[in-house]
Amino acid sequence: MFSKILIANRGEIACRVIKTAKRLGIKTVAVYSDADTNALHVDLADEAIRIGKAPSSQSYLLGETIIQAAKKTGAQAIHPGYGFLSENGDFAELCAENGVTFIGPPSSSIRAMGSKSAAKSIMEKAEVPLVPGYHGDDQDPALLKQAADEMGYPVLLKAVAGGGGKGMRQVWSGDEFNQGFEDARREALASFGNGDMLVEKYLTQPRHVEVQVFCDGHGNGVYLFERDCSVQRRHQKIIEEAPAPDISKELRQMMGETAVRAAQAIDYRGAGTVEFLLDVDGSFYFMEMNTRLQVEHPVTELITGQDLVEWQLKVADNQPLPLEQEQLNIDGHAFEARIYAEDPSNDFLPTTGTLHTLITPEETNNVRIDTGVLQGDEVSPFYDPMIAKLVVWGEDRSAALRRLAKALREYRINGVTTNLSFLYDLATNEAFQNAELDTGFIEKHHAELFKQDGSSVTDNLVFAAVYLHLSSQNESCDDPWSSANAWKMNQANIVSQELEINDTPYLVELELCEHQFGQHGFVVCINEDRLVASATLRGEQLTLTLDGHKRTATVSKDDMGLVIFTDRGASHVNVLEPDLGEDQAGSAENAFIAPMNGTVIELMVEPGATVQAGQAVLVLEAMKMQHTMHAPDHGVVKEYFCKQGDLVDGGSSLLAFEAAE
Ligand code: ADP
Repeated sequence: MFSKILIANRGEIACRVIKTAKRLGIKTVAVYSDADTNALHVDLADEAIRIGKAPSSQSYLLGETIIQAAKKTGAQAIHPGYGFLSENGDFAELCAENGVTFIGPPSSSIRAMGSKSAAKSIMEKAEVPLVPGYHGDDQDPALLKQAADEMGYPVLLKAVAGGGGKGMRQVWSGDEFNQGFEDARREALASFGNGDMLVEKYLTQPRHVEVQVFCDGHGNGVYLFERDCSVQRRHQKIIEEAPAPDISKELRQMMGETAVRAAQAIDYRGAGTVEFLLDVDGSFYFMEMNTRLQVEHPVTELITGQDLVEWQLKVADNQPLPLEQEQLNIDGHAFEARIYAEDPSNDFLPTTGTLHTLITPEETNNVRIDTGVLQGDEVSPFYDPMIAKLVVWGEDRSAALRRLAKALREYRINGVTTNLSFLYDLATNEAFQNAELDTGFIEKHHAELFKQDGSSVTDNLVFAAVYLHLSSQNESCDDPWSSANAWKMNQANIVSQELEINDTPYLVELELCEHQFGQHGFVVCINEDRLVASATLRGEQLTLTLDGHKRTATVSKDDMGLVIFTDRGASHVNVLEPDLGEDQAGSAENAFIAPMNGTVIELMVEPGATVQAGQAVLVLEAMKMQHTMHAPDHGVVKEYFCKQGDLVDGGSSLLAFEAAE
């Protein structure tokens, strides 16, 4: 076995690999960019080497530099994690040329699966079922359109070099084909330097079920069962589980054996994942194979009791697989929830900022947190905005799901907007509890998932208003929230505050009553409702009795307002300045406010141009994701307030648009 390995990655996966290496007595070398000088993975490793500047193209993607770091430190092998160089055949080859073991498959297997269309041809030969479609070399748009027309809509356009849901567009009719093709092609070129596309029949209600496979250098191959990753936004996973619910033993075995056959068709070695779409009628189709460890591997570890990083190290060391197929069993059920810095109410766009508060649920045998950040760390725009993976185990699906909901409730993050409450709403959603899964789950249940129930909105408004009032009395004068202009004194004993939840403004008035026994009493008016409340504030703990119902919240502040943590999850309440309001609402420029910090990739029309409703006018990129902005109406793009290549701040106005009369 190796005595020292280098981890060519950052964040949670670097920390995850270091953990296993430490347990096995293997020394570790971390690499880091300037943005990660004080990162957790650097701290955990025995040694660390700086490899360059913050952008990954100048650090984590520099294969040569990383190999030099391995040689300098005497690391015998490199674990690539996921992302970055993990599926780069040239890098695997470079490792071999330099006498460093690449902890992953041979470069030939990576290349075979690197192109979605080439992979499909290989799978076709290995008799692995494929989604009907066109995956040829001829890229004439007219030919692709013809294939789509013949197949019938909807179709899905996919970048052959794609990954991470990028370079993909659904096309619902022939009229939309050309626009979809152009958008997908542009995104693919920008992200992968390759604009080639394939067309697939778009299945409208499939499940994403993937099989974990492992092969060694001695001809053995096994499957470690499947994961259901159907709950996705932007074609990317957010909650995964193992095993996939409601799958018969026969289907499990058939998918497993097909996956091993797919791996063996490319002489695979190491950990791999064969992704399938499972259709409502029980047919399944090969989608792609990921030739690395997946983000969601922990759910497989929890149901099989195996450490997949340990398996990877053993296979890379040319040892046989630790277990045979018959020795592998499923025990219980596991979920993984990906906690992201992103804003579900703003189309799940990534957010950045400092993790001022980061309180995690207690880790036990059944609750595991894989993370690469600590309280006080920055979520920077340079890398993936995932903060942590919360992984839980239970005897069965419902026990595991209860544990997931509880742990999500106990997770407290402030400083950046996260998807925590959204994940909690998912975990407690009835259809999810009933395992009514398909990849359109979030769109299908949008109304329930994004509905704030009225009582929790009221509670959060009262928590926020009472907190603002009590803390302004308790705290020192330099606190911005205690400044007089945050509060309007209408009458001697009434204070009012404008608050906002999910873009809806509310006026909350507190009529101050006597206070007794350390409790403050209020009559609260929200719109037409009047409620009786009493409250005590100790530090950040606010105990509130509202119309006879007593409960407690932890309240913390951020740039925009307050975060209220209750047993129903976290909620953001924006605190509006008293003088904000009317004049901006409804103005045409509002349609073109940058939704996030990012780079302007392209201005799509000339200033002064007349555009049709829905026409693309500007492309913005942040965290490697492209966001195309479209004209809301038929009208004129009067002026751009930015130029190509500009870095713009979220919230800034990008262009002036005037709708036609
Ligand atoms: P990427 O490599 O970019 O992640 P995949 O090919 O793995 O792309 O697809 C990502 C997701 O897109 C799948 O999990 C599934 O939800 C959806 N998807 C892919 N192909 C199809 C299809 N033919 N029909 C319906 N949904 C699909």
